[in-house]
Amino acid sequence: MLWKAQKEGLVQFELINLRDFGLGPRRQVDDTPYGGGDGMLLMVEPLVAAVEHAKKRLPGAKVILMSPSKTVWNQQLAAQYAASGEDYTFICGRYEGYDARLEEFIDEKISVGQYVLTGGELPAMTVIDSVVRLIPGVLGGEKSAEIESYSSGDNLEFPQYTRPEDFRGMKVPSVLLSGNHAEIAKWRAQNCKK
Ligand code: SAM
Repeated sequence: MLWKAQKEGLVQFELINLRDFGLGPRRQVDDTPYGGGDGMLLMVEPLVAAVEHAKKRLPGAKVILMSPSKTVWNQQLAAQYAASGEDYTFICGRYEGYDARLEEFIDEKISVGQYVLTGGELPAMTVIDSVVRLIPGVLGGEKSAEIESYSSGDNLEFPQYTRPEDFRGMKVPSVLLSGNHAEIAKWRAQNCKK
């Protein structure tokens, strides 16, 4: 879907490799933390050089740091981002974390949930996918995004069925075969999962 959206000019992506902004002949991007402790931290210089490179390409872009932080991504935020028409730069962390001075150069921190992943790439992809599919023209049938889980409050989608009508004795509810759209809408509203 993301590839199709890009091909159709509905969205543009650019990948920036932090290693291109690494220090010295080994293009170093990480170092040990001052004060000691396990693991390596992403260094501030390559991170800020990469952010400044992104800023030159897209001066107005909001800079988002993927982080197990307090703002947890949800469908309402996805809808806001999709409607904003803004550009976004996503920073994907790695290792034990990042030099805290990076925070001076970001606009927001976003978490995809209260768990820790190895890197920010999957969280960034999760956020990007959930936004791009809401951009008009990307899914084709715009209504399909409107009636999805979480699109209005915390309701989950109603159960849906396709052929066959009877699978091992489990039958499609008869109202869905009735052709009565008012009754179908009522049944669906009553059967949204919480
Ligand atoms: N030491 C950090 C901590 O305890 O919060 C975890 C660092 S994690 C191993 C490495 C990177 O993965 C983070 O800097 C962030 O970019 C990304 N990451 C991990 N979990 C995430 C989550 N739930 N949401 C968003 N990004 C996450």
